[in-house]
Formats: sequence, C-alpha cells, structure tokens
Amino acid sequence: MRTQIAIIGSGPSGLLLGQLLTEAGIDNVIIDRVDREYILGRVRAGVLEEGTVALMDHAKASRRLHAEGLPHDGFSLAFDGRDHRIDLFGLTGGKRVTVYGQTELTRDLMDRREAGGATTIYDATDVQPHDFETAKPYITFQKDGTAHRIDCDFIAGCDGFHGASRKAVPDRAITGYERVYPFGWLGILSDVAPVSHELIYANHPRGFALCSMRSETRSRYYIQCALDETVESWTDDRFWDELRRRLPAHHAEALETAPSFEKSIAPLRSFVAEPMRFGRLFLVGDAAHIVPPTGAKGLNLAASDVNYLFAGLLEHYAESSNAGIDAYSQRALARVWKAVRFSWWMTTMMHRFPDSGPFDQKIQEAELDYLTHSQAASKALAENYVGLPY
Ligand SMILES: Cc1cc2nc3c(=O)[nH]c(=O)nc-3n(C[C@H](O)[C@H](O)[C@H](O)COP(=O)(O)OP(=O)(O)OC[C@H]3O[C@@H](n4cnc5c(N)ncnc54)[C@H](O)[C@@H]3O)c2cc1C
Repeated sequence: MRTQIAIIGSGPSGLLLGQLLTEAGIDNVIIDRVDREYILGRVRAGVLEEGTVALMDHAKASRRLHAEGLPHDGFSLAFDGRDHRIDLFGLTGGKRVTVYGQTELTRDLMDRREAGGATTIYDATDVQPHDFETAKPYITFQKDGTAHRIDCDFIAGCDGFHGASRKAVPDRAITGYERVYPFGWLGILSDVAPVSHELIYANHPRGFALCSMRSETRSRYYIQCALDETVESWTDDRFWDELRRRLPAHHAEALETAPSFEKSIAPLRSFVAEPMRFGRLFLVGDAAHIVPPTGAKGLNLAASDVNYLFAGLLEHYAESSNAGIDAYSQRALARVWKAVRFSWWMTTMMHRFPDSGPFDQKIQEAELDYLTHSQAASKALAENYVGLPY
C-alpha cells in the first residue's frame, strides 16, 4: 500500500490531522493498535480552546460540537472557604472555552472520516516506522496474522505517550524533560446536574478538587489522591464525602450525588521531547509531550501541533516549499513550553504536596488571593487558560 501521509494513532491528534489532510485532498492512512470502541471508551479531556474549535470547523467536523458543546465564559477558584470567579470573557476581550468531551470530539472525527471513505486500520500490532531519515520512509505492522507495509512521503507519530514513534528515534537524537508529580487524580463520571454551571478548581488543605461536567446532566468530578491508592478503595459514598469536604460550604450543600459509572485514577506528569521532527517523522500531541490536566491543555496542545504540521504539509504539497515543515518543531515547541509552564504552575498552586505543611498552604492561599484580586494577575491566568494564540 502507498499513501502520502501515514498516521500512527487514531486519537484526537491523528484523527484531526487526517481529516484536515483529507479535506485538502492529501491522501492519508491512520493505523491504530486498538479498535474504535476501545478508543471511544477512554474518558479524558473536556475543555476546548477556541483554536481547537476553529480546527474542528476547518475539518468540517464541528456540527455537533456547536450544537451540544457548552460555551464557558469563566470558572471559579475556591480556597479558604470561599470562591472567586475568573471572568475569562471579560479579561481576554471576548474569548471563551467550550466544554465538550474528548470522546465526542473523537467520535465526530471518526464519523466524518468514515463518511469520506478515508482508510483507518484498527487492531494493528507491532506498528513500526522505518527509514524516516531517508526520502523513502515506510511503516510495517501485523494485522490478522499477516505482515503489512505502507510506503509514504511522511510519517505522523500521533500515537500518544506510550506509542512506537518516539521509541523509534535513536536516544542520541532526542532529549526528554520530565517532572512526575507525587499524587494522582481520582475521577468519576455520574449522571447528575453539575454543582455549578462553571468549573470549580478547589485548593483545600485535604487536597485539590475539580468540579467539571460533560453536559447539563452529566458531571465529571476529580479529587487529588495518593499515588498508591486504588479505585476499589474508593466507594462512591467515600468519594462524595471527600469531595464535599474540599468545597466551600455553599457548593458542598448544593452537590447532587448519584452512582458513578466510570471511576479511574490518573497519575500527573509533565514531559516534553525535543525536537519534534526527525527527518520525515513528526511527533504530534501526547507522543511528544504530556501535561498534568490541571490547566486543561493536553488535548488543546495536540490540536495546536496539528495546526502547525498541517500548515507545513499543505505548503509542501501546494507550494513545493519545505519552510513550514522545517519550522514545525520550533514553532510547536515554543507554544508547548508555555502550556507546560502554565499547567505546572496551576498544579503547583492548587495541590497539596506530601512534604508541604501549613506554611506552604498559607503561601498558596496568598498567591490565590493575589491572583483573584489583581487585575493583571487574573488577566495572565485568563489569557493562558483560553489558550495562547497559534
Ligand atoms: C484522565 C485524563 C484526563 C485528561 N484531561 C484533560 C483535560 O481536561 N484537558 C485536556 O486538554 N487534556 C486532558 N487530557 C489529555 C488528553 O486526553 C490528551 O492530551 C489527548 O488524548 C492527546 O491526544 P493524542 O491523539 O495526541 O494521543 P492519544 O489520545 O493518547 O491517542 C494516541 C492513539 O495512538 C494509539 N497508539 C498508541 N500506541 C500505538 C502503537 N504502538 N501503534 C499504533 N497505535 C498506537 C492509541 O491507541 C491511541 O488511539 C487528559 C488525559 C487523561 C489520561
């Protein structure tokens, strides 16, 4: 088989890149190691920047997003028993975010891809990129016991943090920067109305909590937990009790509860691989970088990488210029590091660290107090939260 762009990974970055390329008439094949239903069962991000929504428009996959996504003009920071609204819309001159689940965005892109007839190969094993430092790269994989090969012009490694693309790069050619945080997030999904129509990020001496949602009837709640905790040790009742304790009283009283239908623990990590291009192999999204979810940036960074790579590939095919693909790594990393900094800062300010004491808690509260009472500080927070320009 031959294609112009072989894309490894059918997550948001692979699907979005594939759809933009297809709309531009550039042939592409997506290969994933799992199947469609497995991918759609992964509950992850839910806050989209305007740039991500614009890319979904460009990919002609945004009809449902505009119909069902919830525009949010602000969020709350809760600490010391009170909460303070960050007016995203007012502070950024009219920008907002949209709450729309990653699974829904993924489904929309998959549906659009299938309707357009582009090829996706699911359940492929041993996916490997080859010869990407030459002009003739290719991918090999196994499917149903048979070995396959796809020759291509370029390979997009959109296969997440544990994928094969980054691992195929020789150690001497790549540098990894990493911070692993000493706690995780225990998250649940439950069919109850959200406790507030906007997100609440809570700093509490017992640990961080986040009240989020997927729709007006489906809530997504998180609490900070120790890394050695197990989902089995957290009954729904225990989760709801702990969440209530970490919220200001008026929210705790208003909290509606019901059985959860999804419960998982995610570790928190910051990671960046440099560079993001190796000859004809490009790393995109989580394959190149991971951020803790505190700043809601992971999915949005995957989208901004796609934006830069798509523009470069379009320039290559339409204008016979390599300027865009040559600049890809540098342009993507400049934005990635700013989002890594923001996510690290939000995480540091909002969480309880195992070695922190009452002094550290007071410092965090002073920072939050400053942040919420200084127009300049609130503005910087809002500007980063809605997403820095591409
Ligand atoms: C619990 C959780 C909560 C999160 N919350 C947020 C949030 O609130 N906001 C936010 O912006 N981000 C959030 N994120 C991050 C966000 O989900 C990711 O940044 C996003 O999924 C990245 O998309 P991606 O396509 O680059 O990678 P992925 O979504 O990881 O997709 C990679 C794809 O590659 C496939 N693959 C992997 N290895 C191989 C292989 N060897 N061969 C072939 N295929 C392979 C995988 O099956 C997968 O389909 C969260 C993540 C988690 C885990």
